[in-house]
Amino acid sequence: MTKIFNDPSEFAEEALAGFCDVHSGLVRQVPGGAVRRHRPATPKVAVLAGGGSGHYPAFAGLIGTGLADGAVVGNIFTSPSAQQAYAVAKAAESGAGVVFTYGNYAGDVMNFGMASERLAAEGIQVENVLVTDDIASAPPSETEKRRGIAGDFTVFKIMGAAAEAGADLADVVRLGRKANSLTRTIGSAFRGCTFPGADAPLFALRDKQMGLGLGIHGEPGLFDTDLPSANELGQEFVTRLLAETPEGAGDRLAVILNGLGSTKHEELFVLWLTVAPLLRDAGYTLVMPEVGELVTSLDMSGVSLTITWLDDELEPLWTAPAETPAYRRGNAALQSGAVSGGETSDAGDAPGVFEATEDSRGYAGRCVSALDAARDCLHAAETRLGDMDAIAGDGDHGRGMVRGVDAATAAATAAAGRGAGAGSVLIAAGDAWADKAGGTSGVLWGAGLRAFGESLGDQRSPELKELAAGVRAFTDRITCLGKAEPGDKTMVDALVPFTETFSRLAASGASPRQAWEDAALEATTAAEATASLRPLKGRARPLAEKSIGTADPGATSLAMIFTVMGPFLAASGQPVPGQPVPSATTSQPAGALS
Ligand code: ADP
Ligand code: MG
Repeated sequence: MTKIFNDPSEFAEEALAGFCDVHSGLVRQVPGGAVRRHRPATPKVAVLAGGGSGHYPAFAGLIGTGLADGAVVGNIFTSPSAQQAYAVAKAAESGAGVVFTYGNYAGDVMNFGMASERLAAEGIQVENVLVTDDIASAPPSETEKRRGIAGDFTVFKIMGAAAEAGADLADVVRLGRKANSLTRTIGSAFRGCTFPGADAPLFALRDKQMGLGLGIHGEPGLFDTDLPSANELGQEFVTRLLAETPEGAGDRLAVILNGLGSTKHEELFVLWLTVAPLLRDAGYTLVMPEVGELVTSLDMSGVSLTITWLDDELEPLWTAPAETPAYRRGNAALQSGAVSGGETSDAGDAPGVFEATEDSRGYAGRCVSALDAARDCLHAAETRLGDMDAIAGDGDHGRGMVRGVDAATAAATAAAGRGAGAGSVLIAAGDAWADKAGGTSGVLWGAGLRAFGESLGDQRSPELKELAAGVRAFTDRITCLGKAEPGDKTMVDALVPFTETFSRLAASGASPRQAWEDAALEATTAAEATASLRPLKGRARPLAEKSIGTADPGATSLAMIFTVMGPFLAASGQPVPGQPVPSATTSQPAGALS
């Protein structure tokens, strides 16, 4: 149980600030995360690790000589935003390129991917190395779907050492990908972790049970078994990992026995006493093994075993010195480069002046009201959405949506107050949503709203067919970015029926209000029907069986939001600036700001 906190929603930010203060000789906080205190004396590849908070020492604890140049730090268990990744990269980059490295989760892939596009457009060389070590999360035939857990550490360590030794970007990336391809992890959970401020752990196991195949975001194990003895557990781990020995692999191993947050080191040492002899008996030499906490999951009780098959190229990188706040190996001299002092300014756009027609400003007021309605309904549903996500995901959907919609509403209100048209208001809302929500749903909602705004523009209040085109743009952006199809059990299952029904009715001469209402009903029915599906995308995929019987949280929230937004976005009779909009479900007047 997390006991020490103020406002739970500020926990991750406060933890990062405290960490940066205590280790101010080694790291410096920047917008989006932290970087090394010392700039390199000569250009070097910047290795940037990333992901959500709650995994200390991953990721910020691993900033320093021989390891990471910086860490992009998201909220608890949620991907940092593209803006954060971009800002940290700008602060860390020294002229030899940037590589983002992170576990394979959809939100991270999308956010780091979008940040990479932006950096590349500025002429900065940028690459991404994904970690996919968790053998429980997909079969060997689908390694590209596997998620990243404690193997993150080995891959970061090898890339960090390569970059420190002066390797160029292509080589650092090649070595990182090679290390990943030779790394396998399996773990067990004994007790779920508890979010700061939450009353109960994200999952509970029956007495004397353990979940095999743990995740590091509070996901329970893939299946529950009776709690074995330490000997039996060690045997189970070693057998499963060696069954996946890479073809042509050598006989020297980097090994990590990793505690998840509240498993005692003494317990890990007891387990090591089984693991090490089994690996040695199988003919392996164990090279500088690590037993301790390297990638945790808040206060979760659990353990994982990671093996990396070393070769002549990887071994010296694994054993190379490192000097970071949380991890030291050998004798790594501190960098000689200049100490960098002040904070990097946030790379966000400064508020500008908007050009828009009165017509579009009138509709912008409706957009703000629609977002207000979404905010009210998401606040009311936060706990329920979180509970749905905890069944097979990580339990953060309600919290992420609330953070996203709060930021979006504030940004939209501010933009409308500065005279923005509907398009710019939705773009501001989308960017704020993506920046603050974190998580897969956050990046998708953010990008979708931005596309909606780009489609509407600031020149006029949309006619029905233009509104339909905006909805289509929202949907296309989400499906293009997330690559989910109907049936994969994601928000797309509610979104596609909505869009199809709305487009069809819009073309057939229905009133905007009728078209939207009917489409929202379709979305609600479709969201409910996802209960019978197995998730094929997102964090819930590895726990597909557990998810059957519960509707997809992202589809549920999407149907709810579209339902309450309808009376504002699609009123019968196209909007007249400044006029209240008739509302079926809420008495809140639209256009209040126009
Ligand atoms: P995270 O999964 O990163 O914790 P959330 O919990 O906020 O993010 O959102 C989970 C929801 O995101 C899922 O219920 C699903 O609807 C949606 N989702 C996940 N992956 C995808 C994807 N690839 N495309 C579309 N929607 C997705
Ligand atoms: Mg989630």
